[in-house]
Amino acid sequence: MAELVVVGSYNAGLSVHSARLPAPGETVAGGRFENGPGGKGANQAIGARRLGTDVLFVTRLGADAFGDEARAVLLAEGLPERGITTDDRSPTGVALILVDDAGQNAISVAPGANLELLATDVLRDFGDDLRGCRYLLMQLECTAELAADLASWAHDSGIRAVLNPAPARPLRPDALASFDIITPNEGELRTLAASLDLADAATTVLAQQLVGYGIPDVVVTLGEHGALWASAAGLRHFDAYPVHAIDTTGAGDAFSAGLVAALVRGEPMDSAIDQGCRAGAFCVTRNGVIDGLGRPSDLAALG
Ligand code: ADP
Repeated sequence: MAELVVVGSYNAGLSVHSARLPAPGETVAGGRFENGPGGKGANQAIGARRLGTDVLFVTRLGADAFGDEARAVLLAEGLPERGITTDDRSPTGVALILVDDAGQNAISVAPGANLELLATDVLRDFGDDLRGCRYLLMQLECTAELAADLASWAHDSGIRAVLNPAPARPLRPDALASFDIITPNEGELRTLAASLDLADAATTVLAQQLVGYGIPDVVVTLGEHGALWASAAGLRHFDAYPVHAIDTTGAGDAFSAGLVAALVRGEPMDSAIDQGCRAGAFCVTRNGVIDGLGRPSDLAALG
């Protein structure tokens, strides 16, 4: 039985790098192409796996070449085959990413089969795994109903559930309060607060308000400024590890993976947040997300 169940997205990431982004209707020639695995669910499952966690990743792919590629990548990372499900009607999720020389990007995502991952199917096929795991980790790249329904179920079943509420989108208030831990960045925190009709306020205030709303641990990631932990015990700030950042994509995914991997090992919240900060810092020192998902020695080397 896996210690951690990650339920979430897989997207093939197709990137074209060019001197500048094209304007509407324009073609920019001379770019470099990269094709790699991505999707917040896959990133976080791979991140936790590389840190030694026994992970079951439950995801949905299309019956197509991107799906075959995804399966091979996930299996090579040591994730079990049985969580990888295939949809006959929808294609594998794809993210089309345009990047210019200044590092600016424009991204369009076609979620495809990710939207066919349904709570009823997950509970039917993986209910025993969920009941037997130590933590459930989700994101918001599949349907909002998937996250809401599994969170309510986890709450009623006494399973500890963690939400990385990315990408930013509103969530049913009862579902939000079903999570034990959430890991928003500042933008995502604001979106969640708005979905609870909280007035806009400073990050520290909003984080505490979400704790008051019934989420025991709210960990806000602050990029190069580290992280902020709000709980019934109050607020605590964690400095970021000083690194030379070259690509900040995926830092939030690495952080959530690092945090949850440590919690699964039985570490207390403060040292788990430290591990999250280490994983996020390592990630920004590498190009792309997958290469930025560190192993224990990479995180330890940060000092
Ligand atoms: P997201 O990618 O979701 O916006 P953040 O940018 O807040 O997430 O990054 C997640 C975590 O990664 C931060 O809490 C921090 O610990 C670490 N991190 C991000 N950027 C840097 C950086 N430039 N230097 C050091 N650590 C960083």
